[in-house]
Amino acid sequence: MTVTVVLASRNPGKVEELRRILATVAPDLTVLGSDAFADLPDIPETGETFAENAAHKAEVVAAHTGLIAIADDSGLAVDALNGMPGVLSARWSGRHGDDDRNLDLVLDQMSDVPDDRRTAAFQCAAAACRPGEAPRLVIEEGEVRGTLLRERRGDNGFGYDPIFQPIGSDVTTAEMTPEQKDAISHRGRALRSLARAIAPWLS
Ligand code: IMP
Repeated sequence: MTVTVVLASRNPGKVEELRRILATVAPDLTVLGSDAFADLPDIPETGETFAENAAHKAEVVAAHTGLIAIADDSGLAVDALNGMPGVLSARWSGRHGDDDRNLDLVLDQMSDVPDDRRTAAFQCAAAACRPGEAPRLVIEEGEVRGTLLRERRGDNGFGYDPIFQPIGSDVTTAEMTPEQKDAISHRGRALRSLARAIAPWLS
């Protein structure tokens, strides 16, 4: 019997990424996105941490669908901004999902910060919930540390990628191919750990 998991996201790119990563531990898995469930409500991200948001989304989707549900939440934590924008990364400038304005605001806020204090990290929490009478929850986290440039470089990726240069790299994550970014990214790390942790649920 093949196992089906549902990813709490309507983003086809994320569903594909999860399918690739889970295939390494369970090749026969069926991975669905939230779009497969027309009556699934949008779940607001109101937690204080990435882990809280990811866990809540996974629990709601598992309860609603009766399937193993996986969710993630991620963002940019800037040291000189005391870890902000953090869970507010997608709406830092006040408008949800306006990547250009969010990035410009962080650049403005960082304009007087010297090069040696421009450190930051992309962070991700990934959660899986197995429904049932005693639902099980697993959370794994991943991080990639880097520095913030003063100007955009690269056209790939999204969000803050054009100004984020991982430690040890001479290109930004917007100058990497999707495969190069997956290999080092916060989300790749969190999802690979999660895939290993829930492997027994998938066979
Ligand atoms: P979410 O986890 O997809 O909700 O992402 C939240 C926000 O964090 C995004 O809108 C981006 O602003 C930022 N973010 C998360 N991961 C990345 C990344 O890999 N590159 C650039 N920005 C990211």
